[in-house]
Amino acid sequence: MNASFIIRKKRDGGTLAAEEIVAFIHGYSRGDIPDYQMSALAMAIYFRGMNDDETAALTQAMLESGVTLQWNSTEGAFCEAKRVDKHSTGGVGDKVSLVLAPLLACCGLAVPMISGRGLGSTGGTLDKLESIPGFRTRLSIDEIQSLTDKIGCAMAGQTDDLVPADKKLYALRDVTATVPSIPLITASIMSKKLAENLAALVLDIKWGTGAFMKSLDDARSLARSLVRVGRLMGLRATAIVTDMNQPLGRMAGNAVEVHESIAALSDRGPADLRRLVLELGSELLVLAAMTTTRAEAIALLERELRSDRPLKKFREMVAAQGGDPDAELARAPETLVLASRAGYASRMDVEKLGDAVVLLGGGRRQVTDAIDPGVGLEMLVRLGDFVTKDQPLVRLFARDKGREEAHRWIARAITIDDRSPMEQPLIVERITSEQLA
Ligand code: URA
Repeated sequence: MNASFIIRKKRDGGTLAAEEIVAFIHGYSRGDIPDYQMSALAMAIYFRGMNDDETAALTQAMLESGVTLQWNSTEGAFCEAKRVDKHSTGGVGDKVSLVLAPLLACCGLAVPMISGRGLGSTGGTLDKLESIPGFRTRLSIDEIQSLTDKIGCAMAGQTDDLVPADKKLYALRDVTATVPSIPLITASIMSKKLAENLAALVLDIKWGTGAFMKSLDDARSLARSLVRVGRLMGLRATAIVTDMNQPLGRMAGNAVEVHESIAALSDRGPADLRRLVLELGSELLVLAAMTTTRAEAIALLERELRSDRPLKKFREMVAAQGGDPDAELARAPETLVLASRAGYASRMDVEKLGDAVVLLGGGRRQVTDAIDPGVGLEMLVRLGDFVTKDQPLVRLFARDKGREEAHRWIARAITIDDRSPMEQPLIVERITSEQLA
């Protein structure tokens, strides 16, 4: 294998053969190909793109760099259940995983949820869960497998042995301005999901001011790429393109989001969060053939939500991962951000709202930053609401650090205008592999 030949071929717009991609990625994982050659190839892919077969080969090569979850145990109430998962491209207030995994376990599916930490304005599921005193998110592969088999869900971070090529390549992309490339993102996401050995996957691809994909077109392209690669690699996947032009639910932060999730687990949560949980959950129930129609799946999910079972399942998972389900969650002192004038809440710079949470210590700028679980914000208005001057827009949970500046950022992030904005649907589009066949 000649690394510089492969780089040149992609640089000049050629199509790489699967063997070339596999050899390159395996060489990079082993340390035989240096970072500078991998960076050059990533940049060539950034500019020239990849077709679906190339992206699938890249995904496969990354997948092969580590171990995969194995579901061959005969012990545990869920050992025979179908394994499913959800991936979200992330957004402010996105706490869907915390509600969806226990809810689906109540419907008979098993959910080995491997999640990420927050970096930048987007929160991470692991940080939210770690605001529960004692909760352990560093689980070994064996623990993830056995807890999923026993309880029906587990939530943990990516281990060192699961797709190590992605960890190495993502760090390189981060410093070489090659993160926003659809084939590279697709291979990164799908290799990690394929390593879970799932029966079905649902992808929540967000678009808007608080999303990784700022434009609807880019979100659609990523969604299509993910579903097509899933299809090529034998994983049943559907993508749902959803709105992130305002935070999901009311709360953004860590402990405050756990609190809101607990309410949602007993059907006392905000309407948009409930809607999204039902949309993503029903998709998985149908893909995994637990129900035949989405209407049937939604009825099943709603029935469970009205019972006490999802919350009990969540508490069972928390206890199994070392957390105290009865512990009081941290909460910083409250202050209010008020409207500077009367008018309609017409636009939200959701990334800026997320940045305000980071500023307070609720997120991180660098991977090594510590998190303050008790800070965050509660949205008191939604897009299109009419507000009067001095009406509270946001309740801030903050300590002294960053509070004044966060107030200013939040006030600037919410535009109050004379005109009511066009309403954006929460669920924009559903992309199935059958549509793309
Ligand atoms: N999330 C991932 O897991 N990988 C990417 O490349 C981008 C977002």
